[in-house]
Amino acid sequence: MMIRLEDIPDEGLKIERAEIPSVFTGEEANWGFGPVSVFLRKEGAEVVVTGTFHARVPLTCGRCLEPFILALDDQVAGRFTPRPPGRAEEVALSTDDLDVAFYDVDEIDLGAFFRAETLLDVPMKPLCREGCPGLCPVCGGNRNLNPCACETRPLDSRLAPFRALADRLIHQEK
Ligand SMILES: [Zn+2]
Ligand SMILES: [Zn+2]
Repeated sequence: MMIRLEDIPDEGLKIERAEIPSVFTGEEANWGFGPVSVFLRKEGAEVVVTGTFHARVPLTCGRCLEPFILALDDQVAGRFTPRPPGRAEEVALSTDDLDVAFYDVDEIDLGAFFRAETLLDVPMKPLCREGCPGLCPVCGGNRNLNPCACETRPLDSRLAPFRALADRLIHQEK
């Protein structure tokens, strides 16, 4: 979704419920985007973008290894600035709280912007739900589906004094 700077009037450009074309590849091709709403406003040579997006990102739970859909619903704010000569980065961190993206040739790539914003919202270790108990380290079962009775801790803490006693007795016998 390319927006030409010359199409942004002084009072700003409001785009309601626009579809992001699916230009992503690899795993990102499976991302489902809802319509986005954005407001673009020129500030000198820069363009400030604010908006909302909804995305459904298929992920694999880092604990139970089951696939799940992460539903994202977030507000975005970014600043597009003319690409300085010699800078290749797509997105660079700025000193304020806005994400800064560079643009070339008087065009703003909103698709790339929302891709970057979505990536920021995808956790490094995604969980299918908070507190997912994951896989049992003993039997390998998914403890979401089948809570097994495997002993996953060395001993119940209430038994610790007996364990210490047992260790001492064993030690004395040597
Ligand atoms: Zn899980
Ligand atoms: Zn188990």
